[in-house]
Amino acid sequence: MPTGKTYERLRADIETIPVIDTHEHFTGPASQEGHKEPIKSLTSGYVHSDIMSAAGEEAGQMLQNGEIPTEKKWPVFQQAWRRMQHTAYARVTKLILKNEYGVEEISLETMKGLTGRLIDLRDKRAFDERMDRHGIRCCLVNVWLDWKKFLAGESPLHERLRLLIAAPELHAVRDFNAVQERAGRVGRKVTCLDEYVDALREFCSQMKARGAVGIKDQSAYSRIIQYESGTRPEAERLFGSIMDDPRRSLGFPAAKPLDDFLFHSLMRIARELALPVQIHTGHMAGIRNDVTKTNAAHFRSVLELHQDVRFDLFHGNWPYAGDWLFLGKNYPNVALDCCWLHVIDSRYARRTLADAVVTVPQSKILGFGGDYGHLEYACGHLIIARDNIAAALAEMVDDGWLGLDEARQVAADWLFNNPNEFFQLGFEPVGA
Ligand SMILES: [Zn+2]
Repeated sequence: MPTGKTYERLRADIETIPVIDTHEHFTGPASQEGHKEPIKSLTSGYVHSDIMSAAGEEAGQMLQNGEIPTEKKWPVFQQAWRRMQHTAYARVTKLILKNEYGVEEISLETMKGLTGRLIDLRDKRAFDERMDRHGIRCCLVNVWLDWKKFLAGESPLHERLRLLIAAPELHAVRDFNAVQERAGRVGRKVTCLDEYVDALREFCSQMKARGAVGIKDQSAYSRIIQYESGTRPEAERLFGSIMDDPRRSLGFPAAKPLDDFLFHSLMRIARELALPVQIHTGHMAGIRNDVTKTNAAHFRSVLELHQDVRFDLFHGNWPYAGDWLFLGKNYPNVALDCCWLHVIDSRYARRTLADAVVTVPQSKILGFGGDYGHLEYACGHLIIARDNIAAALAEMVDDGWLGLDEARQVAADWLFNNPNEFFQLGFEPVGA
């Protein structure tokens, strides 16, 4: 942690800046978990991936089993924790322990002491209190609901949340039933590719009318984020083959031409409806995946072709910082999003944000998204994000590149004004 005077002053100022959180996976108090067993509640979220990386999948699964008592888990947890306790994911667990329970040390005694007093954010007052305490004005959320019911007017969303349309399932259709499920959301039955694209347009349009502020795509988990255009003939043939026989299903990469065609169609819909598009790039949750397919550099052709669509590139494209900064600098329709990044790699976040000051217009950085399902984890993440932003900007102030007031304004833009404008949320801008 930097300790200089500039850092201390900026850190205190940044604490008072309200935040628009660009990415979460909860619907509000209703989707929070009622915690019963302490080790399970403290090893949820991404820290679980580091535990599996250090101690194996079996240990990870055991610690997440709420039925196994704390005492029985302790030896496995102690050994795993010793191996990974200094990662940024683990730091979020430490922050939850400290801020929610006043616990500074992990031991069997302190863990057992939490039994019966674990927080319950299913309670709306407790949920709102955490949002207020951490200055979270609004969160954009990527969740999975019963879309038919949602479009009919039912909504479990907390009033401070704004919805994104979940994209992968719209373009990665592999069989007849998947096609009809998507189309059925808007009461359609589809018989050909054009009708399917039309149903997607209607779905997105109704979602926008119900408050959706953009589209979110995380296809990078399962495929390279390079999308060819001009694949319509093959797409027609592949789509026809699943229409001709409801028992058939396509695999990947065989389905790529269809997937690519539908992705581009979705981008045209995004243009028509003026919906910005969030794209997962870089590092993935879990373990044993291939990072090379997720590099935002693969997405270059989409960014160049769809110039009227605004793209929000996620996660600092970790570990490909240079490509990420280049895309933000080079394309007017690209913003760079630090969601999840501050706890993937805090030092990379600091370095890259300091680099961004001199390479990328300050209007293009979206400074924070928690990317958690549990609010207490998102809040822990936000503390680290504020630390990182203060550290990056303090470095630039001490270098003589920015004045203190300028640094405060950059922080206010990154954390609030930029996401507010990019997603057209309509809040009053904040000054520094
Ligand atoms: Zn996410």
